[in-house]
Amino acid sequence: MTPPEEPAAVEVHECGEPLVDLRGISALLVAPTAAATLVRVGVADRLVTAQTLLPIGVRLLVVSGGCPSGWHATGAAADLRICTVDGGDVAAEAGGADPLGAALAAAGLVNDPQRPWHWSYGDRAWARHRGIRQARYGPIAALGIR
Ligand SMILES: [Zn+2]
Repeated sequence: MTPPEEPAAVEVHECGEPLVDLRGISALLVAPTAAATLVRVGVADRLVTAQTLLPIGVRLLVVSGGCPSGWHATGAAADLRICTVDGGDVAAEAGGADPLGAALAAAGLVNDPQRPWHWSYGDRAWARHRGIRQARYGPIAALGIR
């Protein structure tokens, strides 16, 4: 059996899904220093799912959500890390366990291996990673919303 071919090009079929402010979702912690906190609703849903998959006492911390320029221009990406319930660092476990990566992947997000903190769903990087030809989310600026 051969692996699926990488699509030559990923088209964007903007689904028009709105943005949501992660600061309004009590299941998630958002860093007070986060300059951008908007993501697509489908991304927020998956972040909440990932939080439910983390070990007790470990929280998903959003360092940054979407913004109109750069890597986060589609509202599909967030920069993430884990912390303790009170915001402290989680001690690294022996054996290299990665509870954050496991939870986010199980929730449907994909990671950029060059930027381990950067996770997305529905953008071109996600489509390429999944071997599909259509991304769900294009640039926020083209939506005509916020
Ligand atoms: Zn990022």
